[in-house]
Amino acid sequence: MSADAPVLSVVIPVYNEEAVLPALFARLYPALDALGTSYEVVFVNDGSKDRSAALLRAQFEQRPRETRVVLFHANFGQHSAVMAGLSYARGPHVITMDADLQNPPEEVGKILNRLEEGYDYVGTVRQQRQDVWWRRVLSRAINRLREWITPIRIADQGCMMRGYGRAVVDALNQTHEVNTFIPALASLYAMRPIEIPIAHEERAAGQSKYSLYSLVRLNFDLVTGFSLVPLQLFSMVGMAVSVLSALLVLWLFIRRLIIGPEAEGLFTLFGIVFFLIGVALFGIGLLGEYVGRMYLQVRARPRYIVQAVLESQHSAPASILDTQRLRALAQRGDVETVDRS
Ligand code: UDP
Ligand code: MG
Repeated sequence: MSADAPVLSVVIPVYNEEAVLPALFARLYPALDALGTSYEVVFVNDGSKDRSAALLRAQFEQRPRETRVVLFHANFGQHSAVMAGLSYARGPHVITMDADLQNPPEEVGKILNRLEEGYDYVGTVRQQRQDVWWRRVLSRAINRLREWITPIRIADQGCMMRGYGRAVVDALNQTHEVNTFIPALASLYAMRPIEIPIAHEERAAGQSKYSLYSLVRLNFDLVTGFSLVPLQLFSMVGMAVSVLSALLVLWLFIRRLIIGPEAEGLFTLFGIVFFLIGVALFGIGLLGEYVGRMYLQVRARPRYIVQAVLESQHSAPASILDTQRLRALAQRGDVETVDRS
């Protein structure tokens, strides 16, 4: 952390948000100014195809001291964008939020207070969530599944407006997972977590960037990224089916000796076989999910590529490379780093 690092870093991913950015700037900066602490806003443009990048640049020119803009040349996804933002954030307290004003900027102060009290993870629970009904139903189901099969205990996984302490952010920056779900990961790393209620609003303008398909993919990341229970469940189903069919064969054998061969029940057999084929295909697909993720991980392509960073000279660059270089130097004893443990 450089000496002039701000107290608070706000990380905001932006993907095709030209409709909402002016409203965001108009509410965010006054809300942050009112906190009376030094801050920086790290915008990450996730390869927007509209005028978002130009709007971000204009905002940077207007508030160069408080604004940094990380530009991707392509769309790498919300969580990759947030990861990039976290690696550029310099403050001891970091808050992530969405660009679409579903997370009111006025709530930043509430989260910051908790971080300053010493909590290193401030989770949020949306009061009166403003989303379409099928999103609410889907996320309730996934919530329950996650509680059941993963060690993650968060009340409301969907809200990205959360606060993280420096230690948690450093841990996140060292996590080189290709597909990840940041709030869940952070809740595992946190030593003093807390959850607070938070207001939620309707999207101010534009449309949700998530289709049903990308939501399903994201939730698969959540389940496969934090649990092997689905695989183990399949082993158990396999064992149960084996035992049952062994019993069936034994019974058929005894029946043949006593009563004679049986011929009826052909379609029952079809029914059972098709059901089991379905189970088997599902199992192969599930296996594929894990194997595919391993493949992505083994190839170890960078999670994102930064095209350019807009920042003023006052804010010294802290790219991942810089951080790694600093750490390596620190290990050799050439430079001193602040011990944050
Ligand atoms: N986002 C992003 N990359 C993507 C999709 C979304 O950076 O590929 C950003 C988007 O600009 C917004 C945030 O992630 O700031 C949340 O997106 P959205 O509001 O569409 O999601 P929802 O609120 O519907 O879950
Ligand atoms: Mg939204």
